[in-house]
Amino acid sequence: MIQNLWNDADAAEYVTKHHDPDIALRVYTSHLLGREPRLVLHGGGNTSVKTIATDLFGNKVAVLRVKGSGWNLSSIEPGGLPAVRLEPLLRLEQLEQLSDESMVNYLRTNLMDSAAPTPSVETLLHAFLPHKYVDHSHALDVLALVDQEDCENLARRAFGNRVGYVPYIMPGFLLAKAAASQYRRDPQVEGLLLSKHGLVSFGDTARESYARTVELNNLAADFVQKNRRRSVFIPLAQPGKEIANQADIAPILRGCLANAIEKDSPKRWILDFRCSDLIQAFVNGKGLTEYANRGTITPDYLIRTKASPLILPFPEAGALEEFRCETANAVADYIGGYRTYFERHNSQRNMAEFPLDPVPRITLVRGCGLFGIGKSAEEAAVVADLAETWVDTVSAAEAIGRFRSLDENEQLAMEYWPLEQAKLRTICEPRLAGHVVLVTGGAGTIGSAIGRAFAREGAEVAIADLNGEKAAAVARASKRTALGAFCDVANAESVRSLFDRICKRFGGVDIVVSNAGAAWSGPIATLTDDLLRKSFELNFFAHQLVAQNAVRVMRVQKTGGAILFNISKQAINPGPNFGAYGIPKAATLALARQYALEHGHDKIRVNAVNADRIRSGLLTDDMIRSRAQARGISEKDYLSGNLLEWEVTAEDVAQAFVHHALAMKTTGNVTTVDGGNVAAFLR
Ligand code: ZN
Repeated sequence: MIQNLWNDADAAEYVTKHHDPDIALRVYTSHLLGREPRLVLHGGGNTSVKTIATDLFGNKVAVLRVKGSGWNLSSIEPGGLPAVRLEPLLRLEQLEQLSDESMVNYLRTNLMDSAAPTPSVETLLHAFLPHKYVDHSHALDVLALVDQEDCENLARRAFGNRVGYVPYIMPGFLLAKAAASQYRRDPQVEGLLLSKHGLVSFGDTARESYARTVELNNLAADFVQKNRRRSVFIPLAQPGKEIANQADIAPILRGCLANAIEKDSPKRWILDFRCSDLIQAFVNGKGLTEYANRGTITPDYLIRTKASPLILPFPEAGALEEFRCETANAVADYIGGYRTYFERHNSQRNMAEFPLDPVPRITLVRGCGLFGIGKSAEEAAVVADLAETWVDTVSAAEAIGRFRSLDENEQLAMEYWPLEQAKLRTICEPRLAGHVVLVTGGAGTIGSAIGRAFAREGAEVAIADLNGEKAAAVARASKRTALGAFCDVANAESVRSLFDRICKRFGGVDIVVSNAGAAWSGPIATLTDDLLRKSFELNFFAHQLVAQNAVRVMRVQKTGGAILFNISKQAINPGPNFGAYGIPKAATLALARQYALEHGHDKIRVNAVNADRIRSGLLTDDMIRSRAQARGISEKDYLSGNLLEWEVTAEDVAQAFVHHALAMKTTGNVTTVDGGNVAAFLR
């Protein structure tokens, strides 16, 4: 059940803000619809209002203000509702046929503002219905009734004659015509059910149209509630063995997806895991392979989720190698199946020259849950949200009848429809899209610059720091989807649990910047044992713990990776009284070389950055002042005391790490970021 959230005071506020009441209330109820995930999700659904605009000559022109492409109902503004001249739109209904290209061209030609976004592909559906307000949603509870073998009959029982019924037709011109003629046959109705697609409701006011959407959805929810069978999915007998940890499963799946197509340059994906009682019941059902392959719940999911999920068996703890083989085989079968599906139906329809990438977007793991798969964390989350609503709707549909979706060839037509594919076109994929980077010591000046630099390259970012709160704040500032986490890098359990968290959040890790460190000083001959050991714990052993875990995950993924150390100038050019810092850093340089040597065959590249005199937590403003004074020079001269006579910044260091992450054929290398210092030249 969903709530009718109409509120007169809120409505009045929208009118005050947007002046024109027609548009203001259209924006208001679009927000109400868009913010209810059971009605629309991620760009789904569309709304319109028929109103009056004034042209350059002062003439009043009837227009349809309808959702434009690229806008979400939850956040739409008046600019997202382009005005199209209504009269020319209405004339289109006389035509027998109208190609997509002609339709889009005609819509754009009749815009009042030539720079407005392209009106929705469902514009004509809104135009041909006579009502002032029209709301189109993919209401989940309604879908449970219309995604059925026997949908017309079920719909009658649930809604009586409050709605008209339109059999499945692909969105566009023909659906708009069919909907309008169905409405004319029975003009008393409050809405139309679009078979295997969703709900259209309408009214004379924004309030009436919105209230009908809510009421019709709730009628459907009520019907499902009263008529549901007790047990929907008969559970498969569980093997009775311990189930593997999700943090161990994710890198296996991520690696198999990456390696399925091009082993030399694996395509990396981000995973988003979901689980609930409903998902468990769904993935553990005996008939899973059958009911999960019956297709989407509404056509516009197809471009994001594909029609079928990848299904993986129960992952037993302690038998992960077996699970990997099963996963690799299942992915290969899926890809083969996807290509066959394309060839089978494309030969008749000729929708595209080549199949789209054949990688699954939803993965179901028995005993475990589901993964959304995307090119970024954001995209994976969208897929996971849609997958959850798919599970919800198929479960409800199966509880009252038999879930039925589009036929395979209708699915292909929708998935490859150029007007749908246009929604996904990205300008240019960033260089590190799909990569996951961990930065330790990530809350400091250098660490946060590294996190930001990788985020700009499109990578997913995990910021770890001893100060968990600061790590969370830095993560939030670098990217909306970034993970901020506490980690004591000198503690083995803490490091292990950090890597587990990253695998659970993103599916694995590709680039590890082992950056955490702290400086202690004192004359070497009188240094206390405690202090030197403390420094070794953080400036050497912690790097080893981080590198060990990085290798562990990267070897599971089998997609190579980069382990990068911040080793400081001290590792190469020791300074007096800095032994406590420089000696473990020198050992870390040796550590980097050892890892490069032993893991080159895993395609894991191991490099180090040797930075000096960066204004940061290790070289504070006070320290800069006193060192400059001690040398009798200005602070500026102190900071630019190098061959290039140029101050080196945290951003310069960050760029060196990005460079190493991108340099695919470089390992065992040290990059100097110190403006030039002869004593620190590597010999
Ligand atoms: Zn739709």
